[in-house]
Order: sequence, then structure tokens, then C-alpha cells
Amino acid sequence: MKRLLSLILTAWLLSGVCLAENYGMPAWEYPLEPEILENKAGYITLVNRDHLLGSDYEPYDLEVINARAIPDIKGDMLRKAALQAVREMFAAAEADGCVLYLKSVYRAYSTQKYMYNRRLENVGRDDGVVAYPGSSDHQTGLGADILNLEWTKKSGMTPAFGNTAEAQWMEAHCAEYGFIIRYMEDKEEITGIIYEPWHLRYVGVEAAAYIMENHLSLEEFDEEWHAYIADWEARGGDFKELLRLRAIPDPAEVLYLTEEGEEEVSLFH
Ligand SMILES: [Zn+2]
Repeated sequence: MKRLLSLILTAWLLSGVCLAENYGMPAWEYPLEPEILENKAGYITLVNRDHLLGSDYEPYDLEVINARAIPDIKGDMLRKAALQAVREMFAAAEADGCVLYLKSVYRAYSTQKYMYNRRLENVGRDDGVVAYPGSSDHQTGLGADILNLEWTKKSGMTPAFGNTAEAQWMEAHCAEYGFIIRYMEDKEEITGIIYEPWHLRYVGVEAAAYIMENHLSLEEFDEEWHAYIADWEARGGDFKELLRLRAIPDPAEVLYLTEEGEEEVSLFH
């Protein structure tokens, strides 16, 4: 009787496991888990001239930076996860002989607007040097400009920073800490921003690995995963429902032997 019960329970569990994989929907074959694309924490949010943040958008988990930085930005902030990643990356870089400095971190909408208007007044037109208010990656609290000591002493930043050992270290290793090079050298036409080897953007370790391995701009990544979900849903998937079902823990199956040497199945939720 016990054995029969075990068999029935096992069969039920196995059928449940099979169902749990697809929930009757097309197989999820995108290289990143659906929860990453759910973007609950906003780590993969695209911000640019076509995707503006509101004037009232301020990240909820900003923290005062406690990593090596130029004196001007003392008291400035980054989002918690980005700051933690900066600290880990700086330590690893230093172990490899690359000393990194934060030069610019979170920038509020009002600050960006002030900088933009001042540039307009000085130059007489939008020359693309200062981002339009709401379009700056710095307003996400996940973007940071990072330089070496020599470049912190220069008045401006140019793509030539990309030739330094520090920039090359960051390009090779930033993804290990969840960062991407937000404005790549050969993506200027897509991002609308010149090559900025100093501007790193936190997106989380999984997304960063995928983006950097495939040499994508955040714009291309954003378009790609939205298109994947649209196609997957056109084939019968339901993204919101998939996330809901995946959030329900599977019953854990525990098999153990009774004193009589029979197999029993216990269920734990
Ligand atoms: Zn920047």
C-alpha cells in the first residue's frame, strides 16, 4: 500500500515538474531568465533621448558613495547595488595594478537641467556634450564615470582615455561586477553619444555578461529582449503569467527509506 502511494505521489510530482517547466506555454529560450527581463529593480532600464526619465524620478535606494572618488563629489550618491559593485570592482582592479576613481555618479534631474541650460547659454546650441534633462544615464543612479588618477586631473574627458590600462581593464572585467560600457566605440550612431570608455552602467551580473559578450549597446539589448517577448507571446506565451507561476515554489520532493526499507515520499512546500 505504501509503495503504491509512493508511486502515485512520485508520478504526480513528476507530471508537476514537467508542467512546471513550460506551464503549457512555448519554451522560454532567451539566454536570460524572465525575472531579469521583468526588471523589477530597474537595473536594465534604458534611458536616452527617446526614453526619458521624469523630472520626479529619483531612485529609492541611493547611498552616499564610500569608494575612491575625486573630492568634488564627496556626499554624492549611487544606487546600493551599483555602489557595492563599484567597491568590489575597484578592489579587483587595484589588485591588478589599476587604481580607479569615481568622477561623476548620480545626477538629479534638476542638476542635469541646470547643466544643460548653462551649456546652451555658453555654446548657443545643443552640441551634445551635456545630455538633455531626463535623458542622462546618471539620473538612474546606476551610471558612473570612472577614471584613473591622470585623467581626474584633466579638465575634460575624451575617447583617448580608452587607451589607458585602466580603461582596458574596465572593458575586460566590468561585466564580472555587473557593469557594461554604456557608450561603446562603434555604437555611436545607435546611442547618439560619443565613445565614453569611462561611463559604466550597472545592469546586474547576468545581463552585463550577456551584453558585453555579445557586444551590444543597451539600446540593442532593449530592442532584442522586447522583441523576444513579443514573439514568444505571439506563439502563445503570457509573460506576466509565466512570472507569476515561476514565483510559486515547486513542492520539494524528499525520498527516504522507512525502517522496512520501503521508499516514502514526503512533500514540503
Ligand atoms: Zn557619464
